[in-house]
Amino acid sequence: MEQYQSLSKEQLLGLCEDLKAQYEGYKAQNLKLDMSRGKPSPEQLDLTMGMLDILHKGSGMVSGGVDTRNYGMMDGLPEAKKIFADILEVEPGMIIIGGTSSLNMMYDTVVRALLLGVYGGKEPWIRQGKLKFLCPVPGYDRHFAITEQLGIEMVGIPMDENGPDMDLVEQYVNSDPSVKGIWCVPKYSNPGGIVYSDAVVRRFAALRPAADDFRIFWDNAYVVHDLYPERAPKLYNIFEACKEYGSEDMVFEFCSTSKVSFSGGGICAMAASERNIELIKKQMSVQVICFDKVNQLQHVRFFKDKDGVLQHMKRHAAVIRPKFELVLGTLREELGGLGIASWTDPAGGYFISVDTLPGCAKRTVQLCKEAGVVLTGAGAAFPYGKDPQDQNIRLAPTYPELRELEVAARLFTLCLKLAAAERLLAD
Ligand code: PMP
Repeated sequence: MEQYQSLSKEQLLGLCEDLKAQYEGYKAQNLKLDMSRGKPSPEQLDLTMGMLDILHKGSGMVSGGVDTRNYGMMDGLPEAKKIFADILEVEPGMIIIGGTSSLNMMYDTVVRALLLGVYGGKEPWIRQGKLKFLCPVPGYDRHFAITEQLGIEMVGIPMDENGPDMDLVEQYVNSDPSVKGIWCVPKYSNPGGIVYSDAVVRRFAALRPAADDFRIFWDNAYVVHDLYPERAPKLYNIFEACKEYGSEDMVFEFCSTSKVSFSGGGICAMAASERNIELIKKQMSVQVICFDKVNQLQHVRFFKDKDGVLQHMKRHAAVIRPKFELVLGTLREELGGLGIASWTDPAGGYFISVDTLPGCAKRTVQLCKEAGVVLTGAGAAFPYGKDPQDQNIRLAPTYPELRELEVAARLFTLCLKLAAAERLLAD
């Protein structure tokens, strides 16, 4: 098939008719498929079922000298800290283990910064008038929802295959004191699957913020989520980079086991300089007496160490790799060479990001929905849900079974083609 742009009006009309007939065929199947959220499949969750048998009456509940069943150790069990410290390549003293959700921890961190301030800041963010966060796009919708809800203005920053546009980031951060933070998913970004290059990480470390209370929110949610572990790209350690510039206090790093053990039932952690950690612990001790150490103990006994986590992630990869490959193969087969879409080919994480022709994303998602396939809402990956070009769509291939995924992916490409043909006819 030729590029759609080179088709005549008559050819486009014929194409539309043909695509519509195929589309009606899908509609008649009354499909009910969901490719909208990055959730592990039941098969992946089954990999962790052994964790539920690990603690029992006789297993001993003491860890690091404390009875995990009781209050205490607000910042987490030492063994749990050690696992996260090894994964994030930081010192255990730089870690706080939280509850079951890193998103919750990020939310609380922003709220504390607003109401109480951060280390080195002169006053709480909220007393300083207008506040801004930079938002590399496309990005994680739930990050943007936090800053939107809390009244922080969001500024979209374009990304390329190396990460955010650092010229723009430097321009904002180094000159505007109302810029208080930036949301980053540095490894296998959601949804672009981009791994920030070493040069980008270094430029982050080298920022000289106009605000003395600026923070990089480094959400390393997919740190161990390699689809091809034997040739996984390596993310340069931001704290290592910061050492060179003395800028360690500028970074708050987050991660969790939500897509390692159980989603919403795992454990999360944050890493920061010891100065930051000291203040956060003080502030946090008013919020909580301690988190769930029994859950932490389960994780520690099940995974044992960083290597245990990495071995486990290989089993996850074996389950989801064929799903990514199926969707990517379908995109190539159905859309390759048509000039109407481009997409990412991620080496890890949970998403594939597709760009349609400008003005076609909403229509594609709508067509899919009407035929029974739910996708993430068009625009979700942009601040305020507004994709200026209306062209980005996030695909989440991990949850559906292969059989369902095959149908969903074919239907998606069909809807995208139909939306593109309609748009070209209207132009
Ligand atoms: N950060 C990113 C980038 C994510 O994609 C997700 C899950 N979709 C989360 C955080 C949420 O993690 P948690 O379950 O630990 O709150």
